[in-house]
Amino acid sequence: MGTRITIELFHPDTAIAQQGIDAVLKEMRHIDTSMSPFIESSELARLNAQAAQKPFRTSNELFGLIQRSLYFSGLTGGAFDITFASVGFLYDYRNAVKPDESRRLKAAALIDYHNLVLDETGNTVAFSKPGVRIDLGGIAKGYAVDRSIALLQELGIGHALVTAGGDSRTIGDRWGRPWTIGIRDPRDADKMVAVIPLQDVAISTSGDYQRYFEKDGIRYHHIIDPKSGDSARELQSVTIIGPDATSTDALSTSVFVLGLEAGLKLINSLPDTDAVLVDKHGKMHYSNDLEPAGKLRNNAKPASQPVAH
Ligand code: AMP
Ligand code: MG
Repeated sequence: MGTRITIELFHPDTAIAQQGIDAVLKEMRHIDTSMSPFIESSELARLNAQAAQKPFRTSNELFGLIQRSLYFSGLTGGAFDITFASVGFLYDYRNAVKPDESRRLKAAALIDYHNLVLDETGNTVAFSKPGVRIDLGGIAKGYAVDRSIALLQELGIGHALVTAGGDSRTIGDRWGRPWTIGIRDPRDADKMVAVIPLQDVAISTSGDYQRYFEKDGIRYHHIIDPKSGDSARELQSVTIIGPDATSTDALSTSVFVLGLEAGLKLINSLPDTDAVLVDKHGKMHYSNDLEPAGKLRNNAKPASQPVAH
């Protein structure tokens, strides 16, 4: 995944604690090996290479995550769309490569989750047009975190924090106190704009600073607006807090694309789901449940008063 994994857990038996760590790392490797678009032999890469010719038979796991992705496409009016990859593969953020406008627009015409044809009876996925590609980068890390937490729970571990990149989930508490996760200042890696206390919830942050380059004063980053095939630029970062990391991962990417107004409206309509947004001017915004009660404010300081974490 090209991602830093962190596991923190407590169990009185160190052998079980070690088993937990080993199980999580093994699961993360397994998910990377099957879902990475960069590993040629991965199930996802093979699907991309073959599904335009004929239906590709997938594992239950990959099929399930593609179905889950389509659920979020429906929920977000297409802001979350794994076929973004039909354009996404033309960008190379490390080497400051982007498609020219005509190439981008041509490829953007292929972005549409309706171009995926799923058949549950055979677990097959087909592309209805040549040139369509998928990438689970907006949801797979959250899924890996959820799987990891499930494995820890199976081992009887009840206090843990698992993080993969910007996606985390916690169970239990940390020696009688909540776990905490900081939201960094999108324009200053050394500063926090908020520190969030967490117990038995997941949290995901999507930001325009994670993978990007600048050209002619414009920031090209890894979250793509399916309508244009260009980077979404209304927000600098989106943090979602919710019950599971698959959902918070998909929703953080989605709200980044939807922008301030439509993004907050969506989050305010979902139960047990909260959001902290930093807009393009660096101003912070909160979903309804966090805003009036100042719930977060007690624990988090605004950007002007960074908290050491
Ligand atoms: P995250 O850091 O969770 O927001 O994930 C960003 C990743 O999501 C990118 O690196 C892409 O792999 C993927 N992605 C980008 N744009 C979209 C989109 N509109 N819908 C779904 N996935 C996307
Ligand atoms: Mg995400």
